[in-house]
Amino acid sequence: MPEKFEVVVIGAGPAGAAAAITTSKAGMNTLVLERGDFSGAKNMFGGLVFSKPTAEIIPEFWKTAPIERKIIEHQYWLLSEESHVQISHRNQKFIRDFNSFTAFRARFDRWFASQAEAAGATLVTKTTATGVLMDSSGRINGVSTDRGDINSDVVITCDGANSLIAKGAGLHNEWKPEDIAIGVKETYSLPKDKIEDRFNIRGDEGVALMIYGGREEEYAGFLYTNKDTISFGIGAIMSDLAKSKSYNMPMQVLEWLKKHPSIKPLLEGASLREYTAHLIPEGGYNKIPPLYTDGMMVCGDAAMLVNALNWEGTNFAMFSGRFAGQTAIAAKKSGGNFSASQLAKYQAYLENSFVLKDLKKFRDVPHFISSHKHFLTLYPELMNDLLYRFFEVDGRPKEEHLNEMKKELYSKRGRIGLIKDAIGLYRKVLS
Ligand SMILES: Cc1cc2nc3c(=O)[nH]c(=O)nc-3n(C[C@H](O)[C@H](O)[C@H](O)COP(=O)(O)OP(=O)(O)OC[C@H]3O[C@@H](n4cnc5c(N)ncnc54)[C@H](O)[C@@H]3O)c2cc1C
Repeated sequence: MPEKFEVVVIGAGPAGAAAAITTSKAGMNTLVLERGDFSGAKNMFGGLVFSKPTAEIIPEFWKTAPIERKIIEHQYWLLSEESHVQISHRNQKFIRDFNSFTAFRARFDRWFASQAEAAGATLVTKTTATGVLMDSSGRINGVSTDRGDINSDVVITCDGANSLIAKGAGLHNEWKPEDIAIGVKETYSLPKDKIEDRFNIRGDEGVALMIYGGREEEYAGFLYTNKDTISFGIGAIMSDLAKSKSYNMPMQVLEWLKKHPSIKPLLEGASLREYTAHLIPEGGYNKIPPLYTDGMMVCGDAAMLVNALNWEGTNFAMFSGRFAGQTAIAAKKSGGNFSASQLAKYQAYLENSFVLKDLKKFRDVPHFISSHKHFLTLYPELMNDLLYRFFEVDGRPKEEHLNEMKKELYSKRGRIGLIKDAIGLYRKVLS
């Protein structure tokens, strides 16, 4: 292995592979360092990858990518103790236009990294980057690893949620507990035909289900169908775990969910195959660290580029990796100037794309939700109660039911509270 590459990419997740594919295709001598035994070996997520961003990097990816199921239906479930309200949308267009699909990271990342190798990148696994090298002027000019130092013109760090390399280079301090979620996931084996019957799907169709409510704790749950497995888990903000005085809270919520009368039948007869946990940087736009410095760019989770509202992370990672790659290519063309002023182009690419546009649009949502926890606790409960009263037939006139519904609404949140919530929601999320 030469000791100098034009580009060193740290981490072979979606961001790193996308960056390496981009620079390698343009003929730049690119090294990708991955600490796992293979790309994806230690990686996990809920399960949804988005097709269009993937196709922009690997056209016709579906011919070779390890796809589990194509999502035809999105569901939101709002739970109470023993009921749920379901909002769902099934659309043939999701399949025709191929909007998203489920995958396992161990297979998907390995496949994605192999595309980088096919484009000409050198992938070195079982190697951990331990920090950056700097010249006497403070410009980053390489990476130190547990197997020795490597020099480069530019470093693209895509080392995921812990973001140790950017932190070590002084781009940011430790993430705050309110900006980081912990995600836990269980994978269940269930025969293909059972999955198809339970979720009303056929062939390679799949369902994505998000779950909220029913608990005092704020959490977001997910359930995704794979070929013959189900991915099921929750995410919870770290600072909430501290407040709940139980770092076991995600497991407690997961156990409760599994016994919930609406969810239990979906997992009946399924056998637990795997348990995994991982961090999710959810601070949003206001918490994004500096994205570049002299000789280095930061991508994906390492740069807090996750849209927590819609659990979108892989597409942000892929696009940021690609933009960093394009910036490196432009820097080389500019005569090999990899200074911060040249790498500022990376930020401009992101600002002109959905990545920073979406995060900016919803910049106040993380704080809004954390300061209005009743959206994820009280409102699901209320919606269940209101709908129960609406559908209940008990010999009393409907007007009595409606009056009771209004009374309950006002007593639990108050008229002013309801108006404030509606305005807040409109301003922060919808306007
Ligand atoms: C529970 C959960 C559910 C999620 N669900 C979804 C979902 O359904 N859809 C979606 O789009 N997103 C989802 N996400 C978010 C998504 O997984 C991330 O946003 C995405 O993986 C970020 O990609 P990345 O390449 O930036 O980082 P990662 O995927 O974390 O990849 C980082 C890579 O760098 C390697 N690495 C780390 N440090 C070093 C080092 N020092 N040296 C060498 N290699 C190193 C790691 O081994 C890893 O391969 C979820 C996340 C979690 C935790």
